[in-house]
Amino acid sequence: MKFARRAVRRFMPGEDATDALAAAAAFKRESIASEFTRLGENVTTISEVDAVADHYLAMLDRIAAAQLDGEISLKLTHLGLDLDEARTQSHVERLADRAAGQRRIVWIDMEGSAYTERTVALFERVRRSRQNVGVCLQAYLRRTAGDLQRLAPLGPAIRLVKGAYAEPASIAFQKKNEVNLSFVALATALLHMRRADERVRIGLGTHDVELIQPIADQAEALRMPKDAFEVQMLYGIRADHQRRLAREGYRVRALIGYGTAWYAWYMRRLAERPANVVFALRQMLP
Ligand SMILES: Cc1cc2nc3c(=O)[nH]c(=O)nc-3n(C[C@H](O)[C@H](O)[C@H](O)COP(=O)(O)OP(=O)(O)OC[C@H]3O[C@@H](n4cnc5c(N)ncnc54)[C@H](O)[C@@H]3O)c2cc1C
Repeated sequence: MKFARRAVRRFMPGEDATDALAAAAAFKRESIASEFTRLGENVTTISEVDAVADHYLAMLDRIAAAQLDGEISLKLTHLGLDLDEARTQSHVERLADRAAGQRRIVWIDMEGSAYTERTVALFERVRRSRQNVGVCLQAYLRRTAGDLQRLAPLGPAIRLVKGAYAEPASIAFQKKNEVNLSFVALATALLHMRRADERVRIGLGTHDVELIQPIADQAEALRMPKDAFEVQMLYGIRADHQRRLAREGYRVRALIGYGTAWYAWYMRRLAERPANVVFALRQMLP
């Protein structure tokens, strides 16, 4: 566990919110915006749920005090989706209300497929009364094109990602090129949605710069400005490209994780790239 703690530093600046805020201040100097996530999921007690919500409320105030272009990104199972869905929704609404006063979005992450429908449905309910919520959709899921059509009338904020969980072939594309094709098709649909409805906000949550380029080219062909979409990447991954894209005039946002419950999250980062396992093992050496 000690080596993992050392290795995880590659993906998070520290366990405290203060570390995350300091990292965001450094990003700001390079014209990179930030989003914050306190790592954790599937909590098992209501008191933990309420503490997570209180933490994020305070975090919003700290982001505002630090004058950052920062948003928060949360997991519904961290806010009690396994325990009390009505309470989860009211916490999301409370956070959105606080963020609205600061003109920020509250992003809802997408978890494993056991939660997809409930996450989309909760987002739909909250979005009907509050503009400043966004949701993550996963390109590897076969259902996602349908979800995009379903959400389009709401003029939603969508973060498109490839998807980080192991899902069966019956519901998810398995091959890398199928997932990539799906990602580009969905991003294209999002560009058209935004052309038709200015409320639509697009986040491309990927480090795959080879995929971002054709999407940027399409946006240009559609005569859309560079800020028609935002590239969102994780802290510590492809930092050179984050800076390059920002310098080229694209909107870039770095997702900064913090907190002590990093283990499951860190394991997903290792699974995404075998080279990371080698990197992690090297940390075991003295
Ligand atoms: C801002 C953001 C939010 C996300 N939110 C969610 C979410 O809510 N739900 C969800 O299921 N998934 C989420 N993800 C994770 C996502 O689904 C992918 O698992 C992850 O982004 C890796 O895929 P990729 O698009 O970067 O492409 P890949 O094809 O995996 O990677 C492209 C290239 O990027 C680099 N790279 C990618 N991952 C890593 C890594 N871990 N370490 C080092 N280099 C790497 C490598 O150079 C690789 O060749 C999020 C990702 C980001 C960036």
